[in-house]
Amino acid sequence: MVNNAVYVTENRKMTFKTADMPKIGEHDVMIKMKYCGVCGSDVHFYEHGEPEFPDVYPFILGHEGAGEVIDMGKQVTNLTIGDRVAIEPGIPCRVCAWCSSGKYNLCPHVRFPSAPREHGILRNLSAIPRIFASSLPTI
Ligand SMILES: [Zn+2]
Ligand SMILES: [Zn+2]
Repeated sequence: MVNNAVYVTENRKMTFKTADMPKIGEHDVMIKMKYCGVCGSDVHFYEHGEPEFPDVYPFILGHEGAGEVIDMGKQVTNLTIGDRVAIEPGIPCRVCAWCSSGKYNLCPHVRFPSAPREHGILRNLSAIPRIFASSLPTI
């Protein structure tokens, strides 16, 4: 499987390009992306870039997505292959004071897809910790 991605290459220019294959750790799931929203922050980055990171291109946008679990680490027990999941995009450090108090949304060390330098999820495959992949109901 090829991991095609949509890259911003400079302001207002995008292209398809093959991304590295994500690797999964023991607690991670590999997700075949099915949907990805285009957030206002993605539009802002596409139109204006980020002056603090002029060398970040080519860069993958997208952080609001859902897909299907196609692989998982050995320690993942709450999901199975074929599960449909929504992605909670921000991956906090899980050890700082904010994370320890349960307010991980305030983690200053968060890795947030599509915020430079963390590539986004507008691509075929993404790997994330299982706790940030929530099962979707069957329809
Ligand atoms: Zn957003
Ligand atoms: Zn933290």
